[in-house]
Amino acid sequence: MKLEHLIRFDTAEDKIFLQEYLNDIDLIVFNANILCHQSTNKADTLYSSFPNKKFFIDPRLYSFQLNLSNIKNKAGKIKSSYMKLAIEYGLDYVIDSDTSLTIEQVLKHGLNKLSEDILDFQNNFINENLDSEMKEMISFSKQFRTPEILIAPAFCILDEKDLKWLDINKKLLDISLKVKDKYNKPLYANLIISKEILSNKKAITQILDIYCKADGMVFWIDDFNEVSINENIIENLISLLIYYKQKNQTKKIYSLYGGYLHQILFNFGLNGVCHSVAYGESKKINHGGGIPLSKFYLPMLYKRMQPESMIRLIRDIPIKTKKEFYEYICNCPICKKIINNDNIKLTFFSYLDDLEATDTIRRNAKYNCRSHYLEVKKKEFTLINTRTFEDLVKILEDTYKNISINHYMVKPEYIHLDRWIKVLKSYI
Ligand SMILES: [Zn+2]
Repeated sequence: MKLEHLIRFDTAEDKIFLQEYLNDIDLIVFNANILCHQSTNKADTLYSSFPNKKFFIDPRLYSFQLNLSNIKNKAGKIKSSYMKLAIEYGLDYVIDSDTSLTIEQVLKHGLNKLSEDILDFQNNFINENLDSEMKEMISFSKQFRTPEILIAPAFCILDEKDLKWLDINKKLLDISLKVKDKYNKPLYANLIISKEILSNKKAITQILDIYCKADGMVFWIDDFNEVSINENIIENLISLLIYYKQKNQTKKIYSLYGGYLHQILFNFGLNGVCHSVAYGESKKINHGGGIPLSKFYLPMLYKRMQPESMIRLIRDIPIKTKKEFYEYICNCPICKKIINNDNIKLTFFSYLDDLEATDTIRRNAKYNCRSHYLEVKKKEFTLINTRTFEDLVKILEDTYKNISINHYMVKPEYIHLDRWIKVLKSYI
């Protein structure tokens, strides 16, 4: 068994990166709303650029349960991709009334209808949106593509009050399990919870006992930022994995948003971890906008760095030659291409991006940061799959010790490693 590498297809420009790293990806994940944007383009891409790659679709039903401002654009209008998704799910009245979905509405809507519409979407939407030429070609070969697994429709449970949605989720799962034979695919439960619920043992047991009925599970813990979470939260995630696996040894469990800490949790039965081309290792359910800046993923800290922190670090470490850069910072093919002489400070600018950067600088930084990130991720997954858990913890310990002794970083920048080590070490 190996840790599977999942990558989300978020934007049209992700295509070139996904193609480049296709051999390193086990599963491509599409968010349902993303598929609704430029649908024909996405559908054709799947056939022409990723012809043999397995994929699945995250239905994101909860988008209509939460505050609708999350799915609105800057002008305060519901984004067209979500409008289209609402129509696909038969939930257009949510958009028309501009108020989030309630339990009463869901019951009135009909759980059978909702389940079937959402499973049909996952199974058929891509093929229904192919351009006519492609469709004709595939109709001839009969090689239509469908997702590897189906994801059960589910609403999120963010606090104790939300537990009242659990009964709806249970019924949606039961119905989906009943109709899944029609699609001839495994059906995975869809766990969407907050850290608060993760820490509530009674609630989590209650939820997992229901979700265990499915053929596997995908999960997203709201705002699970690996760099800032405390030891208890890590413990709780490990308990979740252990509990699930005790009941379902052969069933798979995938994290939809996770970074290196999640990857190490392979040791506790986590089968796969998903991130985006542009990071996406954690996500807030109720999120605000902002201009995304490219940041350099620092392998030794397993986190993205602000440009100013990287400039300071390169000055303080002190790295004088490219050879030292490869040794202490990164020796991936992208870094070797960019840092190709001993003038590190100057060449490193190819990775830097800030609000004042010109479009060209920003475009280059974006490309470089993403390629470097995907190279490092590839290495990380290989490391997890070839070393023992003890080895992996030892590597973290050595890195932590090395940074502490050398004083080239301030403690808040690397203290998360200490929190990870404390928890992980107790399992050796
Ligand atoms: Zn690199």
